[in-house]
Amino acid sequence: MRQIPVFQSIEESAALRDDLLKAVQDVIQSGQFITGPNVRAFESEVATYLGARHAVSLNSGTDALVIALKSLGIGPGDEVITTPFTFFATAEAICQVGATPVFADIQETTYNLDPSAIEPLITSRTKAILPVHLFGLSADMVKIMEIANRHGLKVVEDVAQAFGGELCGRKLGTFGDAGCFSFFPTKNLGAYGDGGLLVTNDDDVALAARKLRTHGGINKYRNEMLGYNSRLDEIQAAILRVKLPYIDRWNDNRRRIAGIYREALHDLDLLVQPVESPNSRHVYHQFTIRVLGGMRNALKARLEELGVSTMIYYSAPVHKLPVFEGLYDDVRLEKAERLADEVLSLPIWPLMPQHYLEQTIDAIRTAVRAL
Ligand SMILES: *Cc1c(COP(=O)(O)O)cnc(C)c1O
Repeated sequence: MRQIPVFQSIEESAALRDDLLKAVQDVIQSGQFITGPNVRAFESEVATYLGARHAVSLNSGTDALVIALKSLGIGPGDEVITTPFTFFATAEAICQVGATPVFADIQETTYNLDPSAIEPLITSRTKAILPVHLFGLSADMVKIMEIANRHGLKVVEDVAQAFGGELCGRKLGTFGDAGCFSFFPTKNLGAYGDGGLLVTNDDDVALAARKLRTHGGINKYRNEMLGYNSRLDEIQAAILRVKLPYIDRWNDNRRRIAGIYREALHDLDLLVQPVESPNSRHVYHQFTIRVLGGMRNALKARLEELGVSTMIYYSAPVHKLPVFEGLYDDVRLEKAERLADEVLSLPIWPLMPQHYLEQTIDAIRTAVRAL
């Protein structure tokens, strides 16, 4: 029996094989590999899809965060309030521009920033809030924008895990001053290599981001400031153009699989299911449950034996990572710290075969009963 992975792309690349190969072949034949017609077309198509005025394609989601913060003038001496329950890149980007991450606790239901934890942390040095739409579910953008507006703060959204996710019918990434996406191969919209995107409705932010991605100048040889080399390449843009038209269908499929998990596991009291907040369209980048009673690691080990892979996103909250040793010793973020010991992400991908799903559910039910 084959081990069920938490994610795989083979069904998707098989389904789109001819279109993908033609797209890549066309780029190779064109001889134009950097900032060509596919990058321009993708930026226009993705801006339309997301309902954003500007889309600036970049080399990674991490670069999108760094470039968004820089474009908004955030740097040394500034504080940025963010979540401790995320991939390290969120806080790393804040540090890379010379600013300081200030961590606010999360809500245990949504795994996202708790708006009521933000306001007490605002100081004269606070410049921005950086919420993450973790696992595909919107952070509470209504309250976060309200707080930001009241205190004159910028908002950068980390949408790396929520391409196509919505709140109140509006695409995530378009609420704040900038939205940052990742096209890392395992993300909802994944390239076949690294890639990222910054969207904004602000003309100045878009112009600054375009300069920063090409060595600090719109013209590569008239450099106005220090920048980066952070372009999406033509092959990745061509691949993303093939995949973008399928994203709604794929996200719907993730939602359908989440519904099946929900139904099949609802009577297991040891497990707490992920919520769907009011007015939000969760796109289930992950289907992440909580395992109560200190049984998470035992359940994970038992599932592994039964042929089902799972992942722990994230086993340590960001303020507890070795890189920050000694810096946040006094910081207590009770929910983030507890959830790090409870969360378990189950296998989910849009074209996950039905028998994998059934086998996973059977394994979970068997394992939970035996705990
Ligand atoms: C993946 C991810 C990133 C970084 O994106 P890359 O494209 O890998 O640089 C940032 N934030 C979150 C929440 C992520 O999941």
